[in-house]
Amino acid sequence: MLDRCATLTVAEPRTPYQLTTTGQLWLEVLVDRPYPRDSQEDQQILTYSIPQDLTVEIGDILSVPFGSQVIGGIALRFLENLPPGLEENQIRPVEDVITKGFFPDNYWQLLTKIAQYYATDLITVVRVALPTGLLRSSQRRIRLKPEAIPPGAEVFCTPLSRQILSLLKNQKEGDYSAKYLQEKVKNANYGIRDLVKRGWVESYLEAPKSTNIKQKKAITLLITDFPADLTENQRKIVEILRHQGGEMWLPELAQLAGTKHFKPLIDKGYVVIEDREFLRLSSAIMSRDQPKTLTSSQKQALEAIQTLKGGESVLLHGVTGSGKTEVYLQAIAPVLAAGKSALVLVPEIGLTPQLTDRFVSRFGDRVYVYHSALSEGERYDTWRQMLTGTPQVIIGTRSAIFAPLPHLGMIILDEEHDSSFKQSQLLPTYHARTVAKWRSQLNHCPVILGSATPSLETWLESQANPSLYLSLPERIQNRPLPRVEIVDMRRELQRGNRSLFSQSLRSSLETLRDKGEQAILFVSRRGHSTFVSCRSCGYVLECPHCDVSLSYHHTEPGAQELLRCHYCNYGRIHPKQCPECGSPYLKFFGTGTQRVTQELTKEFPDLRCLRFDSDTTRNKNAPRELLKLFTDGEFDVLVGTQMLTKGLDIERVTLVGIMAADGLLYHSDYRASERAFQTLTQVAGRAGRGEREGKVIIQTYTPEHPVIRAVQTHDYEGFVETELMHRESLNYPPYGSLVLIRFSGLDGEAVQKSAENVAEECVNNLGSDWDILGPAPATIMRVANRYRWQILLKLSGEKADIGGLLRPLKSLVLPKVSMAIDVDPLTIE
Ligand code: ADP
Ligand code: ZN
Ligand code: ZN
Repeated sequence: MLDRCATLTVAEPRTPYQLTTTGQLWLEVLVDRPYPRDSQEDQQILTYSIPQDLTVEIGDILSVPFGSQVIGGIALRFLENLPPGLEENQIRPVEDVITKGFFPDNYWQLLTKIAQYYATDLITVVRVALPTGLLRSSQRRIRLKPEAIPPGAEVFCTPLSRQILSLLKNQKEGDYSAKYLQEKVKNANYGIRDLVKRGWVESYLEAPKSTNIKQKKAITLLITDFPADLTENQRKIVEILRHQGGEMWLPELAQLAGTKHFKPLIDKGYVVIEDREFLRLSSAIMSRDQPKTLTSSQKQALEAIQTLKGGESVLLHGVTGSGKTEVYLQAIAPVLAAGKSALVLVPEIGLTPQLTDRFVSRFGDRVYVYHSALSEGERYDTWRQMLTGTPQVIIGTRSAIFAPLPHLGMIILDEEHDSSFKQSQLLPTYHARTVAKWRSQLNHCPVILGSATPSLETWLESQANPSLYLSLPERIQNRPLPRVEIVDMRRELQRGNRSLFSQSLRSSLETLRDKGEQAILFVSRRGHSTFVSCRSCGYVLECPHCDVSLSYHHTEPGAQELLRCHYCNYGRIHPKQCPECGSPYLKFFGTGTQRVTQELTKEFPDLRCLRFDSDTTRNKNAPRELLKLFTDGEFDVLVGTQMLTKGLDIERVTLVGIMAADGLLYHSDYRASERAFQTLTQVAGRAGRGEREGKVIIQTYTPEHPVIRAVQTHDYEGFVETELMHRESLNYPPYGSLVLIRFSGLDGEAVQKSAENVAEECVNNLGSDWDILGPAPATIMRVANRYRWQILLKLSGEKADIGGLLRPLKSLVLPKVSMAIDVDPLTIE
């Protein structure tokens, strides 16, 4: 069993922050107290004094007095002067340091910078960064270190210390909670502090109770040959183990070998069985994979990466299937060898099991996965082990940018253009790429931004410095990029084809099975139809809580027909008649994944179809399982949404059909074209990654659209050039900056009034380099009964202290209306 307390206390010794002043220092502490709604930052950050005999470092976890209680807190900042309004006699001393060195260097600087830039308070940042419950459920304990106490030395310590020692000695394990000792001994803290200083006891944090490290039995092969004394059965077991890289989970070996009888092998010393933390290995211990011989462009890229200086970020622009992942892997290997760790951020972990697998098979149990689908306990465990500083690779989603790795040697963002790297709905509205750059500067390590369709921001930046632009212009083994065919759906209709499938897509699907190939069909919406309306009176069925139409969901004949709101998840049974006029003629408009799957099964009964969208992949492991079925060839066609765009590398997929590209093209948002180009290019890139050539068919009603043209010719640069011109002329990012202020509340008028108040104040007080657009209602004004208004600020100059400028505006907002500031918003809807 792993001793988690020991792991906490062995955290690397670090140099203390400079304490240059000799006078009294005050300390700001972020205290762990319940978070009242609408609370202000200063309710959580309190000032304390530091007792003479206590050494505090920033980032230490402390116990501090609060009212009549003692609570946990984190040391944030030293102050030379007391904040105005506070008198020295109001200040209470820190009680004790519970754990030292809990956070890597510069970690608090990073969090503070995020709070400032994204105009939010530190506690909000701390909450996304730290695993929930780190402070809340932690408890301080005191443990005796008998081996450190010189015989007879007790007589030299104070009566208080002696009292505590004797209590501890009388406990079987020599271990009590600090709280218990305080109850038993008056002023126990002085004694405890004395004993800690002497090294006779140690103070540690007990892990949250919910923590439950999953242990599983793993079996490891200890021999490299086949000794002569093996029976035939034992030989078979050894062979299987060897084939699997020498290590497997016990149940899996038992299944493959068809036996549970491993004892003779253990007795002979040929294998060992041990308990392992489950999270160390993602799902199976995989066979080791060796570095590949790089192509010349991969080699060039790798060499350039190896000469990067700390704080530099480089764009790795490689077309789909060009071998970016192999470059990441070989760039990380020397980082690990140098005793450092690497952080790999991916858009959605559940959707990229293949990527995770490749890392595990290269780096084995040095790979950890960290993302929000982990339970609180799993997150805590991963977090805690990161602090030990052993070289490792963390693969995670957006919030993994906060992984507390003490010796960070490299940060990689795969698919850096992906919008999931930005937290849009919750505060702070941080972008992991922006945070990654700050972190790399603070920790002096490079950042690699990889993409086939880089964001305009990253592209523009890399153009300014050619040494920070690396390109993989070709697919591995010179495989061609897939041929893209555009089908004009208006023409199909004129020819009398009313089906969802164009003639061209139809004939490609017809020959699919015979050729032993597979297809992916991309649909931009889930559900069956996007809206339902009455053919007699035109009535559209809408969500009672949102200003949107309801989508029709129907999975299979006989199943319940449902209407569902994609914004608030309201659902109702599909009515037999129009609620307005009673007519039975309700018609479905718009096409979702369910409808495509249904029609496909109807028109091509031979094809086995699998639906892959957020309805079918709710369960944590579902994406992996569904994809495995598809990769194993159990299905011929995968029908799915946006989720398909991310990193699928399936050899037998030769055909990609995009059902209706138009759904992506028309949005009011200024980034609509960029997103459409990225999505279409990424989906197209799933075709022809194996031996056989790929083909993409894009069905659209606007074949002349420039985005469609650019996707057809794989012309990223051409697209970017035109798009940048538009952005520049309107001063949109990446030229100007945007800040979106969102208002919402149940009372529509109060929301509108608040937005107007704030807008007026902005007009009067912000400088001339700000453009103020709005206030205006959001595109969908009401969601889940909440009314939504917004103000868009456009800034041409340098982004100064946005928080300082905008946060005071909160006082103009009416009660029960909430105001959120989104700095660098990705969507404005
Ligand atoms: P990307 O991440 O750019 O889409 P991948 O890294 O997934 O591309 O590479 C595509 C395929 O090519 C993968 O199956 C990978 O194993 C293989 N591959 C990558 N680099 C090499 C190489 N140097 N030699 C042979 N195969 C390679
Ligand atoms: Zn009607
Ligand atoms: Zn709704």
